[in-house]
Amino acid sequence: MIRKGNMIYADIIIDISHEKLDRTFQYKVPDSLQDALRPGMVVEVPFGSGNHIRKGYVIGFSNETDYEPERIKEIKGLSNDGETTEGRLIGLAAWMKEYCGSTMIQALKTVLPVQEKIKAKEKRLIILTADREAAQTELQMLQKGRTKARARFLEALLNADGVLPYEEAGKIGAAKAVLDYFVQAGYVEIGSEEVVRTGMTSGMEQPLERHELTKEQYAAACAIQEEWSQEQPRPVLIHGVTGSGKTEVYMELIRQVLEQGRQVIVLIPEIALTYQTVRRFHSRFADKVSVLNSRMSPAVRYDQFKLAAQGNIQVMVGPRSALFTPFPDLGLIIIDEEHEASYKSENSPRYHARETAVKRAELEGANVVLGSATPSMEAYSRAKSGEYRLVKLESRFAGRNLPTVEIVDLREELKQGNRSMFSRKLREEMDRCLENQEQVMLFLNRRGYAGFVSCRACGTVMKCPHCDVSLSEHNNGKLICHYCGYTIPKPKSCPECGSPYIGGFKAGTQQIEQAIQRIYPKARVKRMDFDTTRKKGSYEEILSSFAAHEADILIGTQMIVKGHDFPDVTLVGVIAADMSLNADDYRCAERTFQLLTQAVGRSGRGEKCGKALIQTYHPAHYSIQTAAVQDYEAFYQEEMGYRMLMDYPPAARLMAILGAGEDEELLEQGMQYIAGFIHTFNKDASLKMIGPAPASVGKVKDVYRRVLYIKHNNTSVLVSLKNKVEKYIEINPGFRNMRIQFDFS
Ligand code: ADP
Ligand code: ZN
Ligand code: ZN
Repeated sequence: MIRKGNMIYADIIIDISHEKLDRTFQYKVPDSLQDALRPGMVVEVPFGSGNHIRKGYVIGFSNETDYEPERIKEIKGLSNDGETTEGRLIGLAAWMKEYCGSTMIQALKTVLPVQEKIKAKEKRLIILTADREAAQTELQMLQKGRTKARARFLEALLNADGVLPYEEAGKIGAAKAVLDYFVQAGYVEIGSEEVVRTGMTSGMEQPLERHELTKEQYAAACAIQEEWSQEQPRPVLIHGVTGSGKTEVYMELIRQVLEQGRQVIVLIPEIALTYQTVRRFHSRFADKVSVLNSRMSPAVRYDQFKLAAQGNIQVMVGPRSALFTPFPDLGLIIIDEEHEASYKSENSPRYHARETAVKRAELEGANVVLGSATPSMEAYSRAKSGEYRLVKLESRFAGRNLPTVEIVDLREELKQGNRSMFSRKLREEMDRCLENQEQVMLFLNRRGYAGFVSCRACGTVMKCPHCDVSLSEHNNGKLICHYCGYTIPKPKSCPECGSPYIGGFKAGTQQIEQAIQRIYPKARVKRMDFDTTRKKGSYEEILSSFAAHEADILIGTQMIVKGHDFPDVTLVGVIAADMSLNADDYRCAERTFQLLTQAVGRSGRGEKCGKALIQTYHPAHYSIQTAAVQDYEAFYQEEMGYRMLMDYPPAARLMAILGAGEDEELLEQGMQYIAGFIHTFNKDASLKMIGPAPASVGKVKDVYRRVLYIKHNNTSVLVSLKNKVEKYIEINPGFRNMRIQFDFS
């Protein structure tokens, strides 16, 4: 926090456990505290008409006040409480406000567990306590027998992820006798939400014996300890191929930190937060562990955080927001699959869990460990520069081999007269697989309609000549660049080869499913995409049923590349690598490499060797070539060259100014004004400005969106520019009717 000159006033919140954090009070800063005061510090202030002394948190400073200066009270002094967890989180919020671009209130609401006014009533729940597999076996037995009511009940419970509201039992026709049967058999317990959250109930599982680490895993854990023994330990990036045992290493590190009496946060992408993963942590650390997910109500979340603050749990596993678990003595933050896009918040403050974790760790003297088989360009470039420490795991556990990969050129297929979604090679391999009673996964790396326009004869994609990203088709028959706004009419034939087969690229999971069923009427097919997983628990259900070989072919979007091991899968087919490769943003090659690497890694997890086929119109593209041979380093080099050439992150920093408003003309004008304003700070032309252009989702529910991009290689230059723009917007009433937000990457 940079403070210039004397800050006369401090903004203070008195009660942070209240829903309305917005209520801040201004106090004079006494001279004696001018240098010492920082956001997050606890102070004592006179409050109310009686001037009772209350504790308050400093959240920011200013030189001005809207009140009569004589009437503003003075801070009495620092509180004896010293540092508190809340205080440190408020310090983190102040950092987020500054570096992610948001208001302090938005930042505070993100980091602090805010109590809802109305607490959710304690609901009675029916909870499956038996092992899921055991329950499934039981269900099969019941279904064969004449105990239909019991079967129906257990099935419903399994479908609901093992937790049903008590009232539901009646609705599905389960009499009390049915319930009692399962309770007595030790399958089920009746409990409150509390039980679900924390203990996963008493009967969950015995803690498993610790796995002996392999030599390579042990070396990795030692290297990390060595880093931690340094005076200023750096964040560690574990670059480990899929199945190399990153999770085993995490668990060893967690054990060590717990032994020191400190706590651990483990971030896992929501989609990978499956029963299997959670169980692994539970069986190792038992009731020390709790799990967060984004479906929880704010009240449940609040209680979870309270448990953490009170020291009732020591490990919190969860998605992005678990990062703010208020542990009193945080020792370690682990971020698994650190490259995942879901670690970046889509709302203000648009923070990235990675940077925020590093900052929180810095404020609290904790360590950070990141892990991925396909590290983000950001993390890897930092590892290369020495800002992070790089640790590698290069072999799969138990020496299982990576599958053989073949790239299929779809342009060739068209030449040979094959216009279907499946190449001849893929058909051949699927035939073989199904004949041998092995399983197939078909993967479509984006859902539905892709937006870009390409030529099916030569593969040419219509791109922006300035930004080198794909143009998107709009319904006015035009193609547009979402970075700079460059627009051309949609061509009728391919500008490269003249072929009339040019157009939007469409392929949906549903279409693939229908086509597969026509070709293989006997095959059992399951589909996993947004539509089939909307119901709670359905994601898990599809995966576990496929893992149990209850289907031969699983078709899906990126969802299928995470989670379960499928030992019988020997073929993975990527229907069209182009779907993600031609997305309209600069990260598309990186995303494609990540998705392909993970998809390929799904094949051959069992005893049998695996195979993967990648269909594409761009067989020579480096992201496809390098993914096929699983050569991360080669990919990184190529991609970094592109980022440097185009000044895209991490070669430079990119600040997006996002505008939204109902009046399109006014919004356009406003964005132009901002562009003009920024221009006045660009005398040396070191800022590169692109746009304003319509955002990639240009209009949602009658709200128009525009975006302006600024590139610069120095973060603090962009941050100070952001502060200037914020002020500019604040004092110009013209901006009242639009919403301006910032987004750093
Ligand atoms: P990653 O997180 O790198 O994908 P995992 O930790 O999930 O890898 O390990 C892959 C599989 O190998 C898991 O089923 C895990 O239990 C097993 N495994 C890994 N290391 C060991 C070990 N040292 N001892 C026993 N099993 C291991
Ligand atoms: Zn062409
Ligand atoms: Zn452009």
